Amino acid sequence: MTRAHDLFTAPSDFAPRSAWQRECSGCGACCAAPDIAALSKPLGVPCQHLGAGCLCQIYLDRPPVCRNYAPDWVCGEVSALPTLAARVARFLAVYGLGKGE
Ligand code: SF4
Ligand code: SF4
Repeated sequence: MTRAHDLFTAPSDFAPRSAWQRECSGCGACCAAPDIAALSKPLGVPCQHLGAGCLCQIYLDRPPVCRNYAPDWVCGEVSALPTLAARVARFLAVYGLGKGE
């Protein structure tokens, strides 16, 4: 019997610097860092629906790509950082898409 991949296990070639965080903190990084084709959202730019306090302004009507997004090990790397810009920079750096903070 095989076990499902644990989303909270970092890749073997990545050394995490933060403790695992298994719950979404609402930090907004995943609404700002990745490109999201369904929303015509470019890389590194906050979603047009991301409001104050990093709350989704269309939460009940958000698209499937957002509904299906699940917290993973990257949340621990980004969510404790103090600003959305810092969280975005770290998110992109984790994926090799930015210079990092
Ligand atoms: S990056 Fe993780 S902790 Fe931050 S809002 Fe997205 S799912 Fe939640
Ligand atoms: S629609 Fe809402 S949940 Fe989806 S990326 Fe934009 S702000 Fe985040």
